[in-house]
Parts: sequence; C-alpha cells; structure tokens
Amino acid sequence: MKRTEPLEFHQPTSLAEATRIMLDGGPGGHFLAGGTDLVIAMKEKGLVPRYVVDLKRIPSLSGIREEDDGGITIGALTTLREVEISPLIVGRYPFLAQSAAEVGSIQIRNRATIGGNMANATPSADVAPALLALDAKAKLAGSGGERSMDLKDFFRGPGQTVAEPGEILTELLIPPRDPRLVGEYIKFSPRDMMDLAYIGVAVTLVLAEADRRCESVAIALGAVSPTPMRAPGAEAVLQGQVLTEELAGEAGRKASEECSPISDVRSSAEYRRAMVRVNTKRALLNAAAGGAPVPWTSRRDRRYA
Ligand SMILES: Cc1cc2nc3c(=O)[nH]c(=O)nc-3n(C[C@H](O)[C@H](O)[C@H](O)COP(=O)(O)OP(=O)(O)OC[C@H]3O[C@@H](n4cnc5c(N)ncnc54)[C@H](O)[C@@H]3O)c2cc1C
Repeated sequence: MKRTEPLEFHQPTSLAEATRIMLDGGPGGHFLAGGTDLVIAMKEKGLVPRYVVDLKRIPSLSGIREEDDGGITIGALTTLREVEISPLIVGRYPFLAQSAAEVGSIQIRNRATIGGNMANATPSADVAPALLALDAKAKLAGSGGERSMDLKDFFRGPGQTVAEPGEILTELLIPPRDPRLVGEYIKFSPRDMMDLAYIGVAVTLVLAEADRRCESVAIALGAVSPTPMRAPGAEAVLQGQVLTEELAGEAGRKASEECSPISDVRSSAEYRRAMVRVNTKRALLNAAAGGAPVPWTSRRDRRYA
C-alpha cells in the first residue's frame, strides 16, 4: 500500500463549520467518516485529495433512536457494527442488522459508517437494499439548510450522489412501518467473507393474516444496476396477491428482467441476472416463513439451502 501524499486535515466540531471548510476550500476536498473506502482509494486507487474534512468530531451525527411516531433515525456516522448489534434494529428489522453484518470483517464494521456506505454510492453497498426496501429517507445538511429525500433518489450513479458541494449526509430515516412487516436480505457472493456482493436482494412484506395476501411488498437489488434499485415490476407481480412459491418465482423472473447488470471480474451479467431470479424468490419465501432472526454466522447455510 502506498503512503498518502501530504494533505490538509480538518476536524470541525459542527456541521456548519464542516460545510464552510469544504466551500472555502473548493475542489479537491473530501469528507472523511470511517475511512474504509476513502483511505483505500488514496492508498490503492490513486486518489489524491487536496484536503480532508473529518466528520467524526461532530457529535450530532452518531446514534440510533426511535422517534415518537415509531420511525427510526440512524445518524450517518453510526458504525455498521452499531447497526448490526442495536437491540432496536435487531428487534424490529433483523434483515437490516444482517445487511450491516455482511460488510467486510468486524474490524471494518467497527470503523465503517452507514453514511459512508451510502455516500460512497457503490452499487454493491450491502446496507442500501435493506434501507431501500424499508422506504428509508436520506437527510442532508449544507449551506442552503437541510433537505430530505427518498434514499433511492440520493444515488445518481456509481460513486455519485445528488449531494451538492459541502453538503453532508446527516441521517437515514426509516418511516414508521406496519408492525407485521417482515423482511430478508440475501448477499450472494461465493466467498464466505470479505467479498463484495455479486448481487444483493432485500425484500419486505406485509402479509394479511387470513390468507397471506401481500398487503405491501418491496424488493430492492444491489450490484445489478448503476445504483442500488427498487424493482417495481416484480413488486407489482405480488401486490394484492396471495404469496405462493410460484408467484415468488414469477417475481424473481421479473426482477431479473428489470435490472441492468454489467459483466466484471466478479461475474458475468448473465450470471448476475440468474442469481437475482433465484435469490429474489428465496428472499421472499424466507421473509414470509418468518421465525426468529437467524444469527448471521449461520445464514450462509440457509442461503444455499
Ligand atoms: C476490506 C474491506 C472490505 C469491505 N467489504 C465491504 C462489503 O462487504 N460490503 C460493503 O458494502 N462495503 C464493503 N467495504 C466498503 C466500506 O467498508 C463501506 O462502504 C463503508 O460503509 C464506508 O463507510 P466509511 O465510514 O468508512 O466511509 P469513508 O471511507 O470515510 O467515506 C466514503 C465516501 O463517502 C463520503 N462520506 C462519508 N460519510 C459522509 C457523510 N456523512 N456525508 C457526505 N459524504 C460522506 C466520503 O467523502 C467518501 O467519499 C469494504 C471495505 C474494506 C476496506
């Protein structure tokens, strides 16, 4: 790994100060959270920032809290390890905790933040599909004040978001959800650990108790399009219908048609499409089967079952 070039390093203690440093500094500045993407880019991929603005001393950016209306707010600087073990997240949305647990190693997750996983805008970001399937919103703060948007609109392309210069991702907000909501995240990567997703699928379902009709359904995909995406056509296959194995398979087929994967070192586009088809069906059936959350270390067996 190469040594980084000399750079200016700033450690602001407020959002306003961080934004001001970035606007005054002009091009060539980068925000720093856990550094697990940024430092690798500097040491291995030739990125040479002119200056770095560390966000970790801004106290308001960390933590997970339940709002009065039942929504959940996750500060952008919250580490993925905190998301993985949070009693609130594990109890309410175990598949979101699971998606955080799928990132790298425990050492990486102790540094890596949920905001960095979104702001880096990698199509394969593991936490993005689960958040998209929960209809999460992204909150940004900059010189023009604060604004919120659907998380799906935050991503613009690989490595690109809609954040303006100096704008900071401050929070991810999960709106209040039906208490019957169940979900599942499947990361498909043949290696056991420390590999990026070949594809990722997250689903959420609210099923009618009487007949298992899908009152609401969300299907989100990672690593198969320029940005993490929802699959509205596949969702439409299930909406209002009784969930059966055949219909879950049909939704998987539709999802594989809707995505636009590329071929790269990990996988061909064709294989990715096939894995979306198989794993979307599997995620839907796993979610509907419910049961106690499965510890993430045991889940790889279940993935290939
Ligand atoms: C060995 C290894 C394994 C990995 N495995 C996985 C994996 O399996 N799955 C996966 O999804 N990722 C993986 N990653 C990538 C990485 O850990 C995650 O994307 C991580 O969540 C990034 O968060 P961070 O806090 O480290 O971001 P940083 O590296 O600090 O920042 C990343 C980018 O986002 C910007 N940024 C960060 N926070 C904000 C903010 N609040 N507002 C605006 N901009 C911001 C930074 O300027 C930078 O451009 C791996 C990385 C390593 C080194």
